[in-house]
Amino acid sequence: MFSRIVTARSTSGYSEEIERLRSALQDADAVVIGAGAGMSTAAGFTYSGKRFRDNFADFEEKYDFHDMYSGGFYPFETPEEVWAFWSRNIMLNRYSKLPTPLYNNLLSLVKDKDYFVITTNVDHCFQKARFDKKRLFYTQGDYGLFQCSEPCCNETFDNEELVKQMYERQKDMKIPSELIPKCPHCGKTMTMNLRADDSFVEDDGWRRAARCYSDFIRSHKNSRILYLELGVGSNTPAIIKYPFWQLAAENPNAVYACVNFGEAGCPKEISERSILIDGDIAKVIGKLKH
Ligand SMILES: [Zn+2]
Repeated sequence: MFSRIVTARSTSGYSEEIERLRSALQDADAVVIGAGAGMSTAAGFTYSGKRFRDNFADFEEKYDFHDMYSGGFYPFETPEEVWAFWSRNIMLNRYSKLPTPLYNNLLSLVKDKDYFVITTNVDHCFQKARFDKKRLFYTQGDYGLFQCSEPCCNETFDNEELVKQMYERQKDMKIPSELIPKCPHCGKTMTMNLRADDSFVEDDGWRRAARCYSDFIRSHKNSRILYLELGVGSNTPAIIKYPFWQLAAENPNAVYACVNFGEAGCPKEISERSILIDGDIAKVIGKLKH
């Protein structure tokens, strides 16, 4: 329904747009935060560069990939290596502390509002910052969960203890074979609960969160609502970006805001009710906090 022309950037200045976003936050009766990979990158969870080399230099040397994202798709020689890679990745990106206050700052902006979060991130940062977990929808899974690779069941399994052991006991990029996780029902190897194809398990928690999210959207159809999109790139626009544009277009009381480094745009149909900030999310949220 939208024109093909996407406004590349805002017509007003950076500071002015931040002030518009401040007002929009104050005026809104409800806020929906849509967070993509750029949000966690801005919080310090970078998948390449020094953080990658500090933790995966041996993998880089042997397999010649240069970031953790690529490693997640690498066809390793053995399952022992697969889990050496993944346990390091999960420890680093799921079970470590938040390196910066970005998520906490964001919470301080919305905690007194009627808010909901939808995210494609799987790193648990919103829970770590103590966002209300009844107001969160993780569409693409969670690094903290395993599922059956078949899958033979609709269950997911907390992996913290097992991942810690894999992490601590690995040697020469291999975990001990007895730690390879097996499904308690069918005995097949487990895999990450991440949406890669149609074998992704949508467990009870996932379905409950999906329902809460659509209820929230439905009940605020005509509200003064702010759709706040943070760090959503163009890889998976169908989950957050396009629905936000659509919802903002259908409700004349809605405001759409997009904060994204290098990629802040919207269709011209909603440009008058849009706030586009091409900038660092951490800096923008930090400014809004004061
Ligand atoms: Zn199974």
